[in-house]
Amino acid sequence: MATPKIVLFYVFTPLADPEAVKLWQHTLAESLGLKGRVIVSKDGINATIGGDIFDVKKYVRATRSYEPFKKADIKWSNGEGDDFPRLSVKVRPELVTFGTDDEITVTEAGVEGGGEHLKPGALHKLLDERGDEVVFFDGRNAMEAQIGKFRDAIVPETDTTRDFIDEIESGKYDDLKGKPVVTYCTGGIRCEVLSVLMKNRGFEEVYQLDGGIVRYGETFGNTGYWDGSLYVFDKRMHVEFGDGAESIGHCVACEKPTPNFVNCANLDCRQQYLRCEDCTEKNRQPYCSDCVQAGIPAEVTAG
Ligand SMILES: [Zn+2]
Ligand SMILES: [Zn+2]
Repeated sequence: MATPKIVLFYVFTPLADPEAVKLWQHTLAESLGLKGRVIVSKDGINATIGGDIFDVKKYVRATRSYEPFKKADIKWSNGEGDDFPRLSVKVRPELVTFGTDDEITVTEAGVEGGGEHLKPGALHKLLDERGDEVVFFDGRNAMEAQIGKFRDAIVPETDTTRDFIDEIESGKYDDLKGKPVVTYCTGGIRCEVLSVLMKNRGFEEVYQLDGGIVRYGETFGNTGYWDGSLYVFDKRMHVEFGDGAESIGHCVACEKPTPNFVNCANLDCRQQYLRCEDCTEKNRQPYCSDCVQAGIPAEVTAG
């Protein structure tokens, strides 16, 4: 592959026939030899697609030629080649699975009643004006925030996106209801929904970071309010915004800063946990801390 690229985009727009869109997307991506993950629903499309730059460009052009997807905000990043194991194109009830399908209304203008979109520059303006009053609220799974997050961000206890409802209804975050809250996630899609759910539950001033962490990182690199790496759902596992990114995650075995996740050796667990390259090479601490706490030995020595 000459120049591997990955695109990330979503569009919230009503689709009368998601099944037809799925078939078209599958044929299109397959004919160009692309891999990745596309989800289509009655509310639009969410895609992460990788391949050679020329093929990805053709895919983007064709996708945008469909009127409802014309306004797709495409985020490009560098791949490593073969970043996805396969091509998967599916129809799902929700583009992102919060389990709140009934609560979301989508029109040609997008999701109704969401938080105000802030581009990276507008986010900095808000922080300049309101200072410490502004609270970052992580819209991802808690594990993703182990290697990178906005400074002083609140990270809800979420294993999956479905856990958000219980979290925001738990009362834990009620003191944020009168404050300016900025939700953020990888590319912005999860916040389109999360910000609606929060507003519906009494959070009065909710913003969402437009284009997500990806766009923010492109704009400000390591010079802004972002600390560490960005977790991504492909073979790369994590990306950094330029040199000198300080990892905020720590190896379970030696405590050295690392952005590298590995799978727990317990086949019933397979939880991802942080282990540095050196400790991985020496197979120190092959189990996650949950398994270690549950009595599986922390050190397994050969022989
Ligand atoms: Zn280590
Ligand atoms: Zn485990």
